[in-house]
Amino acid sequence: MLEIRDKVYSFSKDHKPCAHAKPGDLIEFNTLDCFSGKLSDESVTMKDMDFSYNITNPAAGPVYVEGAMPGDILEVSVLSIDLDSEGTIATDDHCGPLYENTDYKTKKVPIKDGKAYFNDISFPIKPMIGVMGIAPKEGDIACGFVGDHGGNMDNKLIGAHSRVYFPVQVEGALLQMGDVHAAMGDAELCGTGIETGAKILVKISLIKGQELHWPVLETEDKWYVNASAQEFDESLMNASKEMQRLLMKATGWSAVDTYMYMSVQCDVELNQACKPCEVQLSLRIGAPKHPQIKPLISRP
Ligand code: CA
Ligand code: ZN
Repeated sequence: MLEIRDKVYSFSKDHKPCAHAKPGDLIEFNTLDCFSGKLSDESVTMKDMDFSYNITNPAAGPVYVEGAMPGDILEVSVLSIDLDSEGTIATDDHCGPLYENTDYKTKKVPIKDGKAYFNDISFPIKPMIGVMGIAPKEGDIACGFVGDHGGNMDNKLIGAHSRVYFPVQVEGALLQMGDVHAAMGDAELCGTGIETGAKILVKISLIKGQELHWPVLETEDKWYVNASAQEFDESLMNASKEMQRLLMKATGWSAVDTYMYMSVQCDVELNQACKPCEVQLSLRIGAPKHPQIKPLISRP
């Protein structure tokens, strides 16, 4: 098993890989929380942090995948996520719908026996990976942002026993991940989940000869297209177009019939929408797995 400890703060084809892996390999990513552990106790807030994205959302990696070429699909099966024993929630004065009446605050949340302890109550955790992706074709994209390379998708369903598929854009793919949350609600209203360091165990595979434009998540019962854009309308359009294309290929139906099916069977859910912050709006559209519909991505 490969163990990855190196960290980067952006996705770029210019990052030097910290390890090489082959399809079928198991890889353990050791991740820091999205604050790079700088919110060491409740007296330190995000106000004390450097907001130039140089120390936020570190991702472990990047891992060069042998044989991965642009046009391939990189499949990442999440086998397990082991969390640290404490998480952090933090607010600032400019992120999320209630920013006008919110100030900088840091709250530490113990995590024990599958539960998070918040004030005087506890609730079950649901570990998820906020940042996962591959190098984009062009440019250097900070890990706090999201796009067709993945990145800060903040899809709460990217947890153990899920699979994520990425459209490879550069040779070697350059897989990296971080920003694990013990729990997060859809939209991540205040801008953070229960942020924590983690050990993520994944298995990677390569799929050749299938087209993909946005990252896809496969859960036990659904296929989700993840897409993003600065605003909701365009983000929804991006996700819907890709879902329509994938469903048409799987069913052989016309575009309009597929659109109708999407309207009656597919749910649109928010991944991350802590507007008015500058991060793009990330959402997912989910189609149920149906015994009479082929898989949206067929695995060899
Ligand atoms: Ca995040
Ligand atoms: Zn996070």
